[in-house]
Amino acid sequence: MTNSRCVVIGGGAAGMMAAYSASESFNEVILLEKNEKLGKKVYITGKGRCNVTNDCTPEDFFANIVTNPKFLYSAYYGFDNNMLMEFIKENGCPLKTERGGRVFPVSEHSSDIIKALNTALVKAGVKIKLNTPCKDIRTDGSKVIGVTLKSGEKIDCDRVILATGGLSYPSTGSTGEGHEVLRHLGHNISECKPALVPLEVSEISECRQMQGLTLKNVSVRLYEDRQPDENKQDDRSKKKSKPIYEGFGEMLFTHFGVSGPLILSASSHYVKKAYDRPVILSIDLKPALSHEQLDTRILRDFEEAKNKDFRNVLTGLLPSSMIPVIIDRCEIPADKKIHDITKEEREKLIDDIKDFKLHITGMRGFNEAIITQGGVSVKEVNPSTMESKLINGLYIAGELLDTDALTGGFNLQIAWSTGYLAGRTE
Ligand SMILES: Cc1cc2nc3c(=O)[nH]c(=O)nc-3n(C[C@H](O)[C@H](O)[C@H](O)COP(=O)(O)OP(=O)(O)OC[C@H]3O[C@@H](n4cnc5c(N)ncnc54)[C@H](O)[C@@H]3O)c2cc1C
Repeated sequence: MTNSRCVVIGGGAAGMMAAYSASESFNEVILLEKNEKLGKKVYITGKGRCNVTNDCTPEDFFANIVTNPKFLYSAYYGFDNNMLMEFIKENGCPLKTERGGRVFPVSEHSSDIIKALNTALVKAGVKIKLNTPCKDIRTDGSKVIGVTLKSGEKIDCDRVILATGGLSYPSTGSTGEGHEVLRHLGHNISECKPALVPLEVSEISECRQMQGLTLKNVSVRLYEDRQPDENKQDDRSKKKSKPIYEGFGEMLFTHFGVSGPLILSASSHYVKKAYDRPVILSIDLKPALSHEQLDTRILRDFEEAKNKDFRNVLTGLLPSSMIPVIIDRCEIPADKKIHDITKEEREKLIDDIKDFKLHITGMRGFNEAIITQGGVSVKEVNPSTMESKLINGLYIAGELLDTDALTGGFNLQIAWSTGYLAGRTE
């Protein structure tokens, strides 16, 4: 061992893994965490069950990275999902794989993942300093020489690994202090936005009517709402724009708009590509049926209830809290007798079911966001080592970097992989 001391700032997923990996080549590794315990955010992941990684192929891993996947190649191939799973199991936490390759501890307790990391850190002799916020990184202009704690204490070292996280769920400790430290050292931080986050829509009163309703097996499409320009004869905006996102799964109505797994995935693409533009969310409530098949199904229902009021024949087709909303949208009077409903009215009903449009007005804030999009520009970080290209001896890992993924264990895997690489020396 030729290296003497490495200081890791931030005891989240990336920082814990970085400290473990650094312990293989540094005489002394000090892990600084401002909270009273390690892994406060890991604790709340996966609704307390911690979806620790995804048991997928490398191709699938990179397909789920929303921002800067190529930057992650070396980090991922150096410490991938299989290595992570072996590591966690070796340190006393058996794992299981669920639907979609999502990996969880068998116990279903995220605390067991933190315990496994803690066991590894203790075995490796890492010095863990809790309740120790770090204030600054000291350099000689081009190279790291140490850190200064908020208490004023200075610790000299040869390497600093900064892993202070992003801005989401600030109550867990990720409050953006690392961004400030890096800005001060000359790094560029791309704009940080909440992602994997519920979306707000303009149809608030409809959403409130359906608040709490979960829709399973629906498909959604997000696309830019281009208003036709009356002055242009061949206006390209009249053509359907390419979807920003298309997906299938489960979503939920809330008092402000929409949430649930499908919406969180959609949000990452919305935030990345179009958060400053008008965007429509189109929900297909019956994706298994074509327009014609749905028409046949509705005609069958209508045939059995010819003399009933319209309001009474949708129960087999739609959830009850959605029926008044659809009735309003399709503009068929609720008390109209089924035998009086015209083909045009039926067509409009089918359109409203297969293309239930909501206008996105924005996303919820960092307090409700699973991750932060944006962060330290990856152009300023060496992807083979995670070392800053501006300051020698400064390494950056985890959510602090401008890279993020969809749900499924991919974001934690980014933290494990970049953390592990940041601690390596060769
Ligand atoms: C509700 C929720 C659920 C999630 N579920 C999943 C999931 O199931 N699977 C998945 O893959 N991802 C999930 N994520 C995302 C995942 O948790 C993060 O991507 C990951 O934890 C990022 O790790 P990190 O180490 O970079 O940052 P963090 O985990 O945020 O760790 C940063 C640490 O640095 C410390 N720190 C900050 N400033 C200082 C300072 N100045 N001095 C000392 N310490 C400091 C903080 O206290 C914190 O402990 C979830 C996120 C949330 C919010």
